[in-house]
Amino acid sequence: MEEYDVIIIGAGPAGLTASIYSGRQNFRTLILEKMITGGVGAEVPMMENYPGFEIIAGKQLIELMKTQALKHSEIHEKEEVRKVEKIGEKMKITADGKEYLTRAIIISTGSKHRQLEVPGEIEFLGRGVCYCATCDGPLYQGRKVLIIGGGNSAAQEALYLDNIGVNVALVHRRDELRAEKYIQDMLKEKDIPVIWDSVVEEIRGDVGVKSVLIHNRKTGENKEVLIDGIFISIGEIPSNQLAANMGVELDSAGYIITDKTQRTNLTRVYAAGDITGGVQQWVVACSEGAVAALSAYEDLMK
Ligand code: NAP
Repeated sequence: MEEYDVIIIGAGPAGLTASIYSGRQNFRTLILEKMITGGVGAEVPMMENYPGFEIIAGKQLIELMKTQALKHSEIHEKEEVRKVEKIGEKMKITADGKEYLTRAIIISTGSKHRQLEVPGEIEFLGRGVCYCATCDGPLYQGRKVLIIGGGNSAAQEALYLDNIGVNVALVHRRDELRAEKYIQDMLKEKDIPVIWDSVVEEIRGDVGVKSVLIHNRKTGENKEVLIDGIFISIGEIPSNQLAANMGVELDSAGYIITDKTQRTNLTRVYAAGDITGGVQQWVVACSEGAVAALSAYEDLMK
């Protein structure tokens, strides 16, 4: 069985940063990632608030971080951690048939897209229902789509789609956006329409999406809007199943509870990034990853 000092679960910004810090302490470090490196952070079309880069796409920054991480650690993609068992002072990890021993674990499993939970959402997934503008947006050039949501993600995705030539409008359930003001200003500058006070009640189509039924919560009016695609961007929920199975303490919203040193309630198990809730920003995820790795170092050197 392969043995590591630190195994990091999840290769988003927090996990990659943790691996750089851990590997540089000469700890044998492995990241296990159930999909591919990046997490939802890689889907951010552009960021203007990551220090050192005036503007950079999430995917590009992930690539740079991955290259750096691979100098100090290993990354195994498409290996989902199924089970963690305590074996004396160590922990045994079972990941898609492979087994590893480790002295410490950093959980950075991030979050996943919240679903609208309306009829048609699952039926038309991949056939007009999308959750990632940077991944699927180019398929809709010259076509009409709606983005659902009023946060930074929805607004930035609307700007991205508009920029690549997609005919886009936002649908938001209230009369003001949650997105930061500078992003709202950019939406206004680009004249991107917003359908206010409205919720999608049904996604309709045949082979693919053809329309949505929209309900105006203020006027009570229902209308069918013809579209080619719908991008759902209504926030994230924590990817906490593994943590819960391990007995890691979660808060009422399902995020891992840590102290300021990113330690959890379990010995030599740390958590970092979106899975800990709070301010979900790249820079915060990276700093939590660094702190988690340094706490692991402190504990393992005792
Ligand atoms: P968010 O900030 O939680 O916003 C979610 C949006 O979806 C809100 O406008 C919310 O409406 C709406 N919503 C939630 N459930 C809904 C439902 N069932 N039906 C219709 N609308 C619904 O999520 P996010 O935009 O994905 O951002 C997540 C975190 O990442 C945030 O902390 C954000 O600041 C951060 N982020 C940062 C950047 C950046 O700094 N560049 C970029 C992207 C994301 P209400 O407003 O009415 O609640």
